[in-house]
Amino acid sequence: RIPFEVGGHTLAPLDKADWIVASPGVPPDNLLLRAAAERGIPILSEIEAAFRLSPAPVLAVTGSNGKTTTTSWLGTIYQGAGRPAEVGGNIGRAYSDFAADLPPDARAILEVSTFQLEQIDTFRPRVAAILNLTPDHLDRHGSFDTYVDLKFRLLVNQQPGDIAVLNADDPVIVARDRKNPSGRGTRWWFSAKNPVSSGVWLTDDGLAYHVGTRQGTIPGSDCLIPPGEHNRMNAAAAVAVALADGLAPENIAPGLTTFTGVEHRLEIVAEVGGVLYINDSKATNPDSVAKALAACERPLVVIMGGLDKGTPFDGLAGDLKRKARAVVFTGRAATRLVQELGSHVPHHVAPDFADAFAAAVALAQAGDAVLLSPGCASFDQFDNYEHRGRVFKDCVARLQSESGEPPCA
Ligand code: ADP
Repeated sequence: RIPFEVGGHTLAPLDKADWIVASPGVPPDNLLLRAAAERGIPILSEIEAAFRLSPAPVLAVTGSNGKTTTTSWLGTIYQGAGRPAEVGGNIGRAYSDFAADLPPDARAILEVSTFQLEQIDTFRPRVAAILNLTPDHLDRHGSFDTYVDLKFRLLVNQQPGDIAVLNADDPVIVARDRKNPSGRGTRWWFSAKNPVSSGVWLTDDGLAYHVGTRQGTIPGSDCLIPPGEHNRMNAAAAVAVALADGLAPENIAPGLTTFTGVEHRLEIVAEVGGVLYINDSKATNPDSVAKALAACERPLVVIMGGLDKGTPFDGLAGDLKRKARAVVFTGRAATRLVQELGSHVPHHVAPDFADAFAAAVALAQAGDAVLLSPGCASFDQFDNYEHRGRVFKDCVARLQSESGEPPCA
């Protein structure tokens, strides 16, 4: 029997606590956690607690964007290679759900969020990737520097023999690693621009790698399914992690080339009346919107908005001007979106999501794409981003049935 308290907390549970595991959503200044800290009771994140129970090495992925895609891709690579592994952490199953059951030769492939890194102590990934660092969750972390420091905590317990896979094209990552390297892991890199001495880079022929004295291209990596250069960079990171863990290039190829992407991330929903509908509901910050704009070739009608997270939107002005026929601003962030972007792009304001969808349909012309890439959280109108993505897909399905076109047109 597990005792619990609801509707508020007393301090009584602290009397019997050896340590406390806080859910990642609970901020560190929570009253109960502050009281625990004052009494010297260790507060652990769930990944720290699970790590202490598990004999299997950890492969961990963090970053501002692309975590779920890269972690899932890595899972598919291990599956394709026939190597035992469980995927979890910030996606799917909690790490603690399987940590103790993994045999020592298996791998825990974990997506790790900033929140989970706030309270680690011994958590030590054998291979850890930091994908990119752009402003996100500033509402919770305060400054960008604090956020960057938290992300680098992923590397802090690495020892010689462990490997940190870093984005060589990301100026924030490169500068932070040069100025104040975390942990003692060997550095590997991935890049869209330049060959690297250890790691993976993008070429016209696919993903090139350099590992010790071995150099080559991963078979089949010239035609990956998820679209856009950002997805090729996610693939490069996943491949670098797998290579760093000792997988052979030919064993990486099957999973790498069959991975189709993750729902709600640039997911092609349908084409109706010559207009392609794309669900990128998981784009909850401006950088992921920029990547979506770059990945789409058609003229776009973009639906943006939702709950404001305090991140600046004005960096999107140029891309929107180039790529968007129009933007529909919706939700609570609409006012700030209009202030920061309204003078740069034709726009329409629709507080309600259903109206926003209708406006986008009206604005789009045959040959265009309607892209839901909100750049904001979803909680003003939805349970979560999945809910928002499903509502978008329902709207498309309704439009399709009204149009009389067959579902797979
Ligand atoms: P995360 O788990 O970090 O939120 P996801 O893989 O779920 O990342 O993708 C979230 C959003 O970011 C999607 O809209 C996707 O199109 C975009 N995205 C994916 N990979 C990248 C990347 N490497 N850089 C920028 N944006 C990306």
